[in-house]
Amino acid sequence: MIYDENNIFAKILRGEIPCKKIYENDFVLSFYDINPQKKIHALVIPKGQYVDLDDFSLNASQDEMVGLLKGINTVAKKLGISVDNGKGYRALTNINEHGGQEVPHLHFHLFGGEKVGKMVQ
Ligand code: AMP
Repeated sequence: MIYDENNIFAKILRGEIPCKKIYENDFVLSFYDINPQKKIHALVIPKGQYVDLDDFSLNASQDEMVGLLKGINTVAKKLGISVDNGKGYRALTNINEHGGQEVPHLHFHLFGGEKVGKMVQ
């Protein structure tokens, strides 16, 4: 698995392309998806160079893993869609071609702000 340093999320992380930022810390960056599929559609990405969840699971440090999971929870709370907010949301990550992944930098989609249905199409 070779990481493409010119993928669009790598450029966002380097500040070469703007994003509508929601949250950032040492481990993650979160921003709104440019083509929202639900009322709220956010992305949470690790700052490290990981192609997808398989790559991350095999190669990320424990701090990075904890940082990503906690980052998702923090963003959900910030957006008012977490269980703490009495709501809920769908966290989803696509992996490689059969998973429908388009951008080869690991990212979790957070869908919420409304009932998101039984399955994403
Ligand atoms: P995936 O198919 O899981 O790889 O999802 C890639 C997502 O990135 C899609 O939902 C796109 O709408 C989104 N996307 C692509 N370019 C940008 C961008 N510049 N800013 C925010 N979201 C983007």
